[in-house]
Amino acid sequence: MFPSIDRMRIHPLTGEFALPANETAFLVHQLPQTRALLGYTLVFCTLFYLAFSISDLAALGYGPDYLKLCAARAVVAATAGICAWLAYHRPITVEATRMAACVAETVALACFMVIAVRRPDEFHWHAMSLGIMLIVIYLYIPNSFANALVLACGATVVFLALSLKYGRLTMADDVTMVMLLVLANAFGALAARRFNQVSREEYQARVQLQHAAARDHLTGCFNRRYLHETLMRPGQVRTPDHGGMLTVVLCDIDHFKRINDTYGHASGDIVLRSFADLLRRMTRDGVDSVVRYGGEEFLAILPGTDLEGGIHLAERLRTRFADTSIVTADGTEHVRTTASFGVACTDLAAEGGNDVLRDLIAVADKLMYDAKRGGRDRVHARCACANDADGPRRAGLVNRR
Ligand code: GH3
Ligand code: MG
Ligand code: MG
Repeated sequence: MFPSIDRMRIHPLTGEFALPANETAFLVHQLPQTRALLGYTLVFCTLFYLAFSISDLAALGYGPDYLKLCAARAVVAATAGICAWLAYHRPITVEATRMAACVAETVALACFMVIAVRRPDEFHWHAMSLGIMLIVIYLYIPNSFANALVLACGATVVFLALSLKYGRLTMADDVTMVMLLVLANAFGALAARRFNQVSREEYQARVQLQHAAARDHLTGCFNRRYLHETLMRPGQVRTPDHGGMLTVVLCDIDHFKRINDTYGHASGDIVLRSFADLLRRMTRDGVDSVVRYGGEEFLAILPGTDLEGGIHLAERLRTRFADTSIVTADGTEHVRTTASFGVACTDLAAEGGNDVLRDLIAVADKLMYDAKRGGRDRVHARCACANDADGPRRAGLVNRR
């Protein structure tokens, strides 16, 4: 499920979504790519980290010092290997990918500091290596902006402290090194922010397109296309316990043509929006689906709701709508009208077929037309369960007014 588009603000400093719910939805959507990127980057960087043991050999020669640094590099390889393996082979969550990224980065940076101290004559080169590692942390290892910033800045401060204590650099070299590392952090952070922002803008555009394709422009309800292409797909409408009752309520505004003819099309639109708002307010967000089924016909799909629940909703809607006074488009008059309802219910566990929803809507449609013929402003309901031992009683028509 995609989040609401009107509240998808991007934070200007981090380039991430300001609302945690939106950020989580984005990260969950990105998870497969994040896992792959984490795995590739860790394997690639680890191979380089190991290959650089050749520089330890060149600097220290073969001996106990060299072997200690090999052990440090092996620790990094083992940690990164475990993290990459987890990323590829386990059903990993967003939090776990971040944890894996932080652990691998911390171990690699800590071992890097040990290596730098053991080779104190080469702090210029170590500074260059750190600069490259910072770019990898900011841009290539998937993590939150805050985590990347803390790790990169923390590593830079520790490295500069070690350089002052153990490095044998001139004052000019120290100043140049500080400037280069500040530059690497600044560019890394700016590029990470930009990358975060671009990927979230892409996601935003995708959500907007999905929203526009699935919704009716006038009322904001789902449209017929979404009903047919998504809601009617087998297994799409599920009750909370993956079985149980499914109820649909088909609603049609009474004598709506007269409203258009008397008060104008714009006022008719206001009545449609008012009915749709009422229907959406009375149904459960994220569980029920409200569809604009036709011009002035709306369909509510209520998973996990039995016939009584459907009738209760339709009755509340009927009375509330009949009591609602709607101001016309020019603001001069008040319109009141009514609606007729067909409510049909089935037992998903007993039915299980692919066209359950289609069949149920057809039943609700007939009931709604019965309600029209019966005089309008009323609810007709029945249970459409097949193989229902209690069927004859429950299938009895329920007419409410
Ligand atoms: P009944 O009580 O039998 O349902 O009568 P009715 O007048 O509501 O039904 P009918 O099907 O005769 O008319 C429906 C009208 O709805 C006709 C159409 O012009 C109008 N309509 C359809 N879509 C829209 C819309 O988006 N805006 C407006 N204002 N009117 C619409
Ligand atoms: Mg009508
Ligand atoms: Mg109609």
